[in-house]
Amino acid sequence: MNQQNKKKQIAILGSTGSIGTQALQVIDEHPELYEVYALTANNRVDMLIAQARRFQPEAVVIANEDKYTQLKDALADLPIKVYAGDDALCQIVESEPIDVVLTAMVGYAGLKPTMSAIKARKAIALANKETLVVAGELINKLAQQYRTPILPVDSEHSAVFQCLSGEVGNTIEKVILTASGGPFRTFTYEQLQTVTPQQALKHPNWEMGSKITIDSATMMNKGFEVIEAKWLFGVHPTQIEVVVHPQSVIHSMVQFEDSSIKAQMGLPDMRLPIQYAFSYPDRVYSTFERLDFSKCTNLTFEQPDTKRFRNLALAYEAMYRGGNMPCIVNAANEIVVDAFLKGKVSFLGMSNVIEKTMTETSFVISPTYDDYVATDKEARSIATQLINKQ
Ligand code: NAD
Ligand code: MG
Repeated sequence: MNQQNKKKQIAILGSTGSIGTQALQVIDEHPELYEVYALTANNRVDMLIAQARRFQPEAVVIANEDKYTQLKDALADLPIKVYAGDDALCQIVESEPIDVVLTAMVGYAGLKPTMSAIKARKAIALANKETLVVAGELINKLAQQYRTPILPVDSEHSAVFQCLSGEVGNTIEKVILTASGGPFRTFTYEQLQTVTPQQALKHPNWEMGSKITIDSATMMNKGFEVIEAKWLFGVHPTQIEVVVHPQSVIHSMVQFEDSSIKAQMGLPDMRLPIQYAFSYPDRVYSTFERLDFSKCTNLTFEQPDTKRFRNLALAYEAMYRGGNMPCIVNAANEIVVDAFLKGKVSFLGMSNVIEKTMTETSFVISPTYDDYVATDKEARSIATQLINKQ
C-alpha cells in the first residue's frame, strides 16, 4: 500500500465515553480512511472488550489495573496486546504507526498522555479541554518544539478553526464562543439554590459525560472553553466573547478587522467536529442529519449572566491572572463537581469552594510541569477540606 492510500491509524484515549463512542461511529462510517490502532478506558471493561472485538485494534489499555485480568482473559483468543495502568496510557500513544491521538478522557488525567503524544509527534485531536486549561502554555511550547498539530474537537473551537480556514495573515478582532446556557438558563438565583444533580444532568441539546454536563450547567464549561480558545488561537483574553445562543445551531464565530463575522453552523452533533479533526484539511462525506431551515426559524442570542453563573467569571479571572491559577480552578472544579454529584455540596456552593481554593492555594506565576502536578494536588486537598468543613 503506498503512503497516500494508507489509512490513518487512530488511538482513542477514553474510547468508552461519549466522545470516544462517537469517534468509533465516525471510524465505522469510513473504514477506507481510518483504522483503530489503540483503545483505552478507565473502568468500563465490558464495553472496552466489546469495542476491541469489534474494531480489532493492535492494543488496548485499561487505566484501572484491577481490571487487567478480566480484559486480558476476555481477549485471549485475539492477537490484541493488553496493558493496564497510567504509564501504559502514556507509552501506548508513542507507538510508531499511530497518526492521530484523540484525547477523549476526562479531566486532569489527560495532561500526561497528551504530553507523551505530542513528544512522539502524533497529531492531537483534542477533546480533553482540561489539558489546555491546566497547562496551555506548556502544551503550546511542546507542540511548537515537536511541530505537532493540535486539532480542536470541542464544537466551539472546531467552529472557530473552520472559520479561520483560508484566513492566514488576516487579523482577528474577536472570537465569539456560543453557549447553550445549559438547563438552568432561565432559573432565578433563588431557584438555583435548590437544584439537584438529576436536574443538572439533563442538558437541553447535548448528550455528554456527567462531568462536562455539570460543567455546562454551571457554565464552567464555557469558562474553560474561553481559556482553551486563548491557547488554541493565540488571541488576547479581551478578544474572547461569550454569547448565549440556546438553539446551539451556530457553534461559534470569528469577527475580522473589516467587521465581517464568519459563523459555522449545523445541528448539534459531536461526530462532525470529531470527523473534521480526523479528515483535516479535507472534508469527507457524512450521513449526519442536515440542518433544515424550514424547521429552524428562530435563532436567538442573549448575554451570559455571571451573577447567577459565577464560575464563568471565576474562569475569566483565572485566565487574566495566569500562571497556575487555571490549574487551581480546574482541580477545585473536579473536586466540587464530584461532591455535587454525591450530594455533598450545593449547586451554588460549588463556586464558593472554587473561589476560596483560588485564594488559599500557592500561586506560581511561571509554572513548570512539576509545579502543575504539585498545584493540582494542593488545590484538590484544599477544596476537599473546604467541602468537609461546611
Ligand atoms: P465521558 O465521561 O463520557 O468519558 C470519559 C472517558 O475517559 C471514558 O472512556 C473513561 O473511561 C475515560 N477516563 C476517565 N478518567 C480516566 C482516567 N483517569 N484515566 C484514563 N481514562 C479515563 O466524557 P466525555 O463527555 O466523552 O468527555 C471527554 C472529554 O471531552 C472531556 O474533557 C470533555 O470536556 C471533552 N468534551 C466532551 C464533549 C461531549 O460532547 N461529550 C464535547 C466537548 C468536549
Ligand atoms: Mg464545547
